[in-house]
Amino acid sequence: MPKIHRIETFIVTIPRDTPYLGPLKPGEVVNERGYLVRKANRTIYPTQDRSVLVKVTTASGAVGWGETYGLTAPKVIGALVDDLIEPLLRGRDPRDVQVIWEDLYDILRVRGYQGGFWLDALAAVDIALWDLCGKLAGLPLRKLLGGERRSSVPAYVSGLPRATIAEKVELARDFVDRGFTAIKIAAAVSADGVEAELAALREGLGPKVRLFIDFHWMYSAGEAASLIRWLERYDLGLAEAPCRPEDVEGLADVARQVAVPVAAGEEWRTVFDARPRLAARAVSIIQPEMGHTGVTQFMRMAQLAQAHHVHTMPHATIGLGIFMAASLQASSSILDLPFHEYQHSIYDRNAAFVTGQPACHAGAFDLPQGPGLGVEPAEDLWRYAIKI
Ligand code: MG
Repeated sequence: MPKIHRIETFIVTIPRDTPYLGPLKPGEVVNERGYLVRKANRTIYPTQDRSVLVKVTTASGAVGWGETYGLTAPKVIGALVDDLIEPLLRGRDPRDVQVIWEDLYDILRVRGYQGGFWLDALAAVDIALWDLCGKLAGLPLRKLLGGERRSSVPAYVSGLPRATIAEKVELARDFVDRGFTAIKIAAAVSADGVEAELAALREGLGPKVRLFIDFHWMYSAGEAASLIRWLERYDLGLAEAPCRPEDVEGLADVARQVAVPVAAGEEWRTVFDARPRLAARAVSIIQPEMGHTGVTQFMRMAQLAQAHHVHTMPHATIGLGIFMAASLQASSSILDLPFHEYQHSIYDRNAAFVTGQPACHAGAFDLPQGPGLGVEPAEDLWRYAIKI
């Protein structure tokens, strides 16, 4: 029987010329720890890209890789792995991965640790254990998650990081010419106003391209509903995160009042986050983020969504490509999955840090090949990594 022997954690920091979401705006400052708060979406970011890798090694030397968010306080994940997770898992069979997730969740749920950093740590370990399961079975992860439903995963383009509307339309046109059919813009970074941007894109791209907006939790339900109804004239195809994360009733109000599908879920950790939103019919689309959920909860959310006739469109954010590979593997299996997010400015760069990363081209991701996740950290990545 394979046995978990060691669990190691690494912080990986990748330099970038311009901070995520563009140059500093008036009033934005970098503090002594290297963080800035983005005024528009009120969220804190490091000036460099940062992620946390987890490596699980079995007694016989097999290795599984996992990853979670490392944007803020990344040492927390290392502390949780060292102090709690590794001692509890040493000697256990990695193929008991779902039982292990439930056991770890159970030991802290009654203290109120049902989200946040604790669940991020569980996500990273869960991904690494699923990677091991695939490698031990000699199968790609998707074959363990129900099977390969699709051999490529449709991708929507996320973000048009250009200064002017004309340049944004030009970039969007370039993606459309390369076979992409859906594009998402972010309301929080729309300097000229989201309506002007949406109108220009609709005008410049014609009626067939699907246009989505991420509202970054900015509005009350009433504000969101009236804005989205106004934007329906541009054939808006998706309204993401219009209300604050806690406002389940507000989200349900918005969903009832607009013709545009409402999407949410990038901050959810477990199926317990998805359940009340689905029950309230607050979303038409869920957007689980593999870096927060791990494979076990990602699949459970998608299956619960499916039981509510709700689509899954996975979120994809700043990462190295390890949890992204897990997300693509899972996305190959899920029934109702119209698109996966494609953060082109991050994903394309990651090809240098991950061996086996599949290409995203002509509107779709290829699937990783080989057993487990099908990707591994590349030699180049270790220049930017420190062990915690
Ligand atoms: Mg978002």
